[in-house]
Amino acid sequence: MGNLFKLIPKVDEVIEKEEIKSLIKLNSRKIVVDSIREVLDDLRQEIKSGIDEDILMNNIRNINSLVEESILNKKKHHLVKLINATGIVIHTNLGRSPLAKEAVDSLTSLASSYSNLEYDLDEGKRGSRYSHLDEIVRKITGAEASMVVNNNAAAVLLILSALCSGKEVITSRGELIEIGGAFRIPDVCKESASSLIEVGTTNKTHLKDYEEAINEDTAAILKVHTSNYKIVGFTEGVDNKTLSSLKKDHDILIIEDLGSGVLVDFSKYGLSYEPTIQNSIQSGVDLVSFSGDKLLGGPQAGVIVGRKDLIDKIKTHPLTRALRVDKFTIAALEATLRLYLDENIATQRIPTLNMIIQKRDFIRKKAEKLASMIDNNNLNVDIIDTLSEVGGGSMPGEKLESSALAINSDVYKDFEIERFLRGYEIPIITRIENEKVIIDLRTVSYDEFEIIAKALNLLGA
Ligand SMILES: *Cc1c(COP(=O)(O)O)cnc(C)c1O
Repeated sequence: MGNLFKLIPKVDEVIEKEEIKSLIKLNSRKIVVDSIREVLDDLRQEIKSGIDEDILMNNIRNINSLVEESILNKKKHHLVKLINATGIVIHTNLGRSPLAKEAVDSLTSLASSYSNLEYDLDEGKRGSRYSHLDEIVRKITGAEASMVVNNNAAAVLLILSALCSGKEVITSRGELIEIGGAFRIPDVCKESASSLIEVGTTNKTHLKDYEEAINEDTAAILKVHTSNYKIVGFTEGVDNKTLSSLKKDHDILIIEDLGSGVLVDFSKYGLSYEPTIQNSIQSGVDLVSFSGDKLLGGPQAGVIVGRKDLIDKIKTHPLTRALRVDKFTIAALEATLRLYLDENIATQRIPTLNMIIQKRDFIRKKAEKLASMIDNNNLNVDIIDTLSEVGGGSMPGEKLESSALAINSDVYKDFEIERFLRGYEIPIITRIENEKVIIDLRTVSYDEFEIIAKALNLLGA
């Protein structure tokens, strides 16, 4: 073994090789030297673990490419873009909503320069970061005031902490939701130091259930949109307008966690109706909170809209500083919201909305186009009808009619094709159904076709 160690070259010797010199020209000397050290360390490690002498010699001969690989690995980012061919539009594991081009442009121009984030350009003095979004949010939702925090979970926690701490919050037993990442309404209440008072039953809650629970310690009724499940059958709940009528006789707030943040009426596009933010505000809810990156199609954010006196009070709570949004969120959200000034533009330009309302005929044309670009004798490619989902805990049970490529092979197993695509330089995420790899075209755009076709044509070539 001792002899084998002598075969390993010194760093200085490796650096003198022509190939390595050209690597230094393309990269920094430090990165190349670090990579050489790592490769040589690996070789010593291999000897210690009893590597076969022939393999070791081969690795030493290949030292240049090992160094190059190590350099490439250093440059590779861990968070990378990928192609979502699952058909699930708001895919929580895949970054939820891709942004509209307008939002990306805004981000790009702000990212590398200073901005008036907290500066009032008219007055020439300190301004508020919330001011950039306030007007547009009010205009679109019809609310009196607004503020934005990191995500909707933060928004709910902040509202309860600022307005309900030490008091009681009434919620229907049918709405005690858990969403991914351990966000549970009872736990959020506990964290905000408010006491949760559960009323009604899982399937039915009546107005009198709420009313009987109100006492002098009651701060609010919290309505929670059951965004990731549906209770169907013998059910009853109380609508916002009726709930708001309780405010006549009782000094309480009506707060609603709407979850998804819908600004357009999806029933116009053949989907089931989802309550809109505008609707909640109109029906007398005092504060509504919702996500920026679910059905709204913007960046991760939690938007709070409603009564100005309440939002002013929330803004003074210490948690506000801890949960505040950065300039990138504000930039992307402002640009996304501006698209909502015209619903036609919103549904065309905001990818999430656009993908949700795409019809099967349109998607099938995409499937035909992509299929025509695939030329690989190892693969059998069919175009099939399939169903995709909205995802992101939004519109549970809603199935969207879609079209997909179903791929199998006599040479490769379904999971081998799936794994190959997932490991491609731009990863392509698919699903397997009936032993076929499914590429659902709802969530794939035309400008991604070339990448997918190239990957598939490479398989076994
Ligand atoms: C998704 C959701 C949340 C959490 O929103 P995030 O933006 O993911 O933090 C809270 N409440 C409901 C009802 C939701 O659907």
